[in-house]
Order: sequence, then C-alpha cells, then structure tokens
Amino acid sequence: MTSMLQRQKIRDTAFNNGVDLFGIASIDRFVHAPAGFHPRDIYSKTASVIVFAIRLPTESMFAESPVPYTHVNSLVTQKMDMISFDISSTLDRAGIKNVLIPSDDPYEYWDAGNQHGQAILSMRHAAELAGLGKLGRNNLLINKIYGNMIQIGALLTNVKLEPDPLADYEVCPPKCRICLNSCPQQALTGDTVIQSKCRPISNAKNEKGYIIKKCFECRKKCPHALGIRRK
Ligand code: SF4
Ligand code: SF4
Repeated sequence: MTSMLQRQKIRDTAFNNGVDLFGIASIDRFVHAPAGFHPRDIYSKTASVIVFAIRLPTESMFAESPVPYTHVNSLVTQKMDMISFDISSTLDRAGIKNVLIPSDDPYEYWDAGNQHGQAILSMRHAAELAGLGKLGRNNLLINKIYGNMIQIGALLTNVKLEPDPLADYEVCPPKCRICLNSCPQQALTGDTVIQSKCRPISNAKNEKGYIIKKCFECRKKCPHALGIRRK
C-alpha cells in the first residue's frame, strides 16, 4: 500500500469508528516536546502521530449538579479509549503498525509534592500539531466547530504520512482573561495549570469516596466552549 493509500485507510478507519475530528502530525512537529515526553520516548520508530477526537454531549456542563458532568467525563474517556483500541486493532490487522496512547490515564510521571501528574504524551499538544485546533489560555484545545468539549485519542505509527495543515484560526482574543479570572483557585497562569491548586476542587473526593468534578469553570466560561463564536 502506498503512503497515500495508507493515509486514506487510516482516516476512513477513524471516521468509520465514530470520531468527529481527525488529523496527522509529522514527527518533526514535536521538536519542542519536553524531554521524556516526546513520541519517540514512547515508541522510538514513530514517524507520524495520528490524532482524533470525539465530541462530548455539552449540556451536562450547565447542570446545577456536578455529577452528570463528572459521569460524562468518565464515560467519554472510556469511549475514546475503546474507539482508539478499535482503530488500532483494525490498522494492525491491515499491517499498519501503531501504538495506542491512553486518552487520559494511566501515566507514570507523578510529583507528589506538587500534586503534578503528566501524561506520557500531551494529547492537547498532539492535537494542535495535527491541526485539530489551538490551545487556549485555559490550557484546553479549542476546535473551531466543537470548542473545548472534545476528548482526544492518538496512535503513534512508524509510517511516514502526509501531515494535515495546522489550524489557521485564532482562539484567544489578546485581552481575554475570562478563564483566568473565573478560576476560584487562581490555578491558571495563561500558560499552564497549577495542578496542586486545581486538583482539590476539580477532582474532589466526597465522603462516599467518589471523585466528583466540582469545578470546570475555565471550560464552561470560555466564550468558545461550544465552538468559535463569530462576531
Ligand atoms: S478546573 Fe476550576 S480550579 Fe481547575 S483551573 Fe479550571 S477553573 Fe481553576
Ligand atoms: S476564556 Fe478567553 S482567554 Fe480563556 S481560553 Fe477562552 S478565549 Fe481564551
């Protein structure tokens, strides 16, 4: 199979498995990935990173109870992982070697003192490098159509594929600080999230032991939460 046919096969397989967004990043685009978190630190043969995303149902974010949003988040992570597994499996059977990356956890890096965890590959950055959107100051990927209500999956492959163009739209107006100002913990710097400040309320353990997402203000309050608003 030629590289163009392989690309088409991968794209078709992804959409046939229900993804809403798809893109490919060439390995040279990861030149700024931190040491230890580069795709080739995971799989040394990586030539391309295949990235896709599914849209979350949005209204749970506006419910007064945080439980529906917590549940949607949990389900969409599992669903993305299952879709990634099915895409990975289909491509494997077609002879296209690939390595599946978890949509969220597990991961290995954990700085207990700062309560800071880091995924083996930053899905948000991979998605940006594959043209799925741009990173906002709230540290979420913002897609033109679906906003920040998306869950990202990725596969690494040793096949050199034609990359997709990067997103050509802007997401954060120069003076917008809505997400930073709406954070009750002052956990957003504009470049990163201070996880030790965010975790206690974004992943709060209740008396029964359930983890409840009690805060997602930076996601909800963004004017582009549901897609880029046009003037
Ligand atoms: S989830 Fe809440 S606490 Fe965490 S950064 Fe966003 S607004 Fe701040
Ligand atoms: S609230 Fe404003 S600054 Fe924050 S991510 Fe959204 S557009 Fe960007």
